[in-house]
Amino acid sequence: MSRRIQAIRGMNDLLPEAMAGWQRLEATVQTILNAYGYCEFRTPLLEKTELFARSIGRATDIVGKEMYTFEDRSGDSVTLRPEATAGLVRAGIEHGLLHNQVQRLWHSGPMFRHERPQKGRYRQFHQIDVEAFGMPGPDIDAELVLLTARLWRALGIGGLTLEINSIGTPDTRATYRKDLVRYLESHRDQLDEDSVQRLSKNPLRVLDSKVAEMQPVIMAAPSILDYLDDVSRAHFEGLQAYLADAEIPYVINTKLVRGLDYYTHTVFEWTTDLLGAQGSVCGGGRYDGLVEELGGKPTPGTGFAIGMERLVDLLNQQGLVGPEPNPEVYVAIMGEAAQRQGMRLSERLRDQGLLVQCNCGGGNLKSQLRRADKSGAKFALLLGEREREDKMVSVKDLRTHGAEQKQIAHDEISDYLKRHLS
Ligand code: ATP
Ligand code: MG
Repeated sequence: MSRRIQAIRGMNDLLPEAMAGWQRLEATVQTILNAYGYCEFRTPLLEKTELFARSIGRATDIVGKEMYTFEDRSGDSVTLRPEATAGLVRAGIEHGLLHNQVQRLWHSGPMFRHERPQKGRYRQFHQIDVEAFGMPGPDIDAELVLLTARLWRALGIGGLTLEINSIGTPDTRATYRKDLVRYLESHRDQLDEDSVQRLSKNPLRVLDSKVAEMQPVIMAAPSILDYLDDVSRAHFEGLQAYLADAEIPYVINTKLVRGLDYYTHTVFEWTTDLLGAQGSVCGGGRYDGLVEELGGKPTPGTGFAIGMERLVDLLNQQGLVGPEPNPEVYVAIMGEAAQRQGMRLSERLRDQGLLVQCNCGGGNLKSQLRRADKSGAKFALLLGEREREDKMVSVKDLRTHGAEQKQIAHDEISDYLKRHLS
């Protein structure tokens, strides 16, 4: 026997029994995004490495150590996408969809990051991305948050907290960065090795650190909100007014930041303490400089990404996933001659809108009834030589203990089933 091959670490098989939660999430997302007028968008899994190096930035963990990058057979450096925004912006520029236009777009699919796998953190994981282009104000930032809040309500999920912040513009941030570096330098002895490195490359990211010993230093750091100019302050207040109108509670977290220059104004995140260490289920914000950074004309942009694995975990944890959909009727067939008739009958019942599983692959009556029971169907139809000749079907109620088997004529069977299934 050959040696078994296993899946790659951190890349999950999503087995049939896990799919009900995924399907519920995907269907709800689709309905809500349609209702807000967002259009679905799909881009390739593989992009030129340069795209991510430029958009996400070389000094980030993602580009620095998490990307699946390799040379293809032509010797070009390519990368499995670690997130969706870069590919979407690349495609938007390429197809002339962004400049001087208003676009509301969404995307869902797998992302790849070579992180240390643990609960809620995988090497292939899935995101729902929602992005809006061409709208510079806080109205659309608020719409994105409202949309996520509606999604949680529609799914019935509780226990999520909205955190918001403003990181202003690159200009105001430059002043803040200088002061922050000066402050952190003066506490250098209390920073861990990672943070000392970030101090020169990407100092705002130090505020992101989860290391417990560093929290007092981080908490006492200067607040970016004290550095905002009038325009940024008005944008942030605008966002808060829309959230208040919609009665969406939020907390301001001045340590919620993005390190790169193309980010502007709004940052937000939905977090929970119900998932252990991996508590961030949705992160987003405004990136007015990104389109230009990737070679397009200056275009405002704003968006967010939801981690689907974490959301499906929450759905399961909170008992919000119903049972798998199952057939209503199982057609059991005795003898080869009856198989063709069974297949025809099954198709006819499906034409009538019934959910039908037809036995294939033979088997004796006992094993077919076992399959019928396992399928979750309410009725089994038994079709053998005798029934075939009499143009009758035996109907067995699988869910009522002691129910009698009934003989029903072929042309009455769908009415009979519909009456008893409703
Ligand atoms: P984290 O702080 O948990 O690493 P992040 O800041 O890297 O998250 P983003 O790049 O903003 O996350 O991605 C948006 C969302 O995607 C996150 O809020 C999270 O729910 C999910 N996510 C990110 N990385 C992973 C992963 N490796 N496995 C599963 N979900 C992930
Ligand atoms: Mg991460």
